[in-house]
Amino acid sequence: ASTGPCDIAALLKSLSRLFEVQAQARKVRLETTIDDNLPVARADASALEQVLSNLLLNALDAVSPETGEVRIAARPGPDDDSVSILVSDNGPGIPPQDLTRIFDPFFTTKEAGRGSGLGLAVVFGLLRDMGGRVEVENADGAVFTVILPACGPAC
Ligand code: ADP
Ligand code: MG
Repeated sequence: ASTGPCDIAALLKSLSRLFEVQAQARKVRLETTIDDNLPVARADASALEQVLSNLLLNALDAVSPETGEVRIAARPGPDDDSVSILVSDNGPGIPPQDLTRIFDPFFTTKEAGRGSGLGLAVVFGLLRDMGGRVEVENADGAVFTVILPACGPAC
């Protein structure tokens, strides 16, 4: 992946337009919040789109129609010179015993034919290759945080 300056706000605006169609089809609410003071990130835009698409597809799979909510939020941090993009949902979350396995290739809890178990393995690998990382926790549902380096002088 060839990294360079990446305008996260622009990328999220076009990606959320794309996913809005799928969210509406499932009667799920999709909300995108972008911090005004977001630094430019260092990333490969198409790899980042792949990462966020995989997370958004999982979030849409996890929530119930009608009451489902999926949120995308971009903000500075958590480290100095980093940018975070959170993808969160109000689905059931991830059982504690699965938290260490969800990034393994072929780990899936979806019924046969519905999930390859590769989405999060791809997320993990693409972010590692870009010098970023992904973290997961449970809140109202699952919260995935993508952390990318901000665009420094050598970006
Ligand atoms: P797949 O979607 O094909 O199952 P992934 O690698 O994308 O494979 O995800 C692996 C597993 O992680 C899923 O089967 C599911 O158990 C869990 N998972 C991922 N995202 C979420 C989420 N937003 N909420 C609950 N569980 C999730
Ligand atoms: Mg998936």
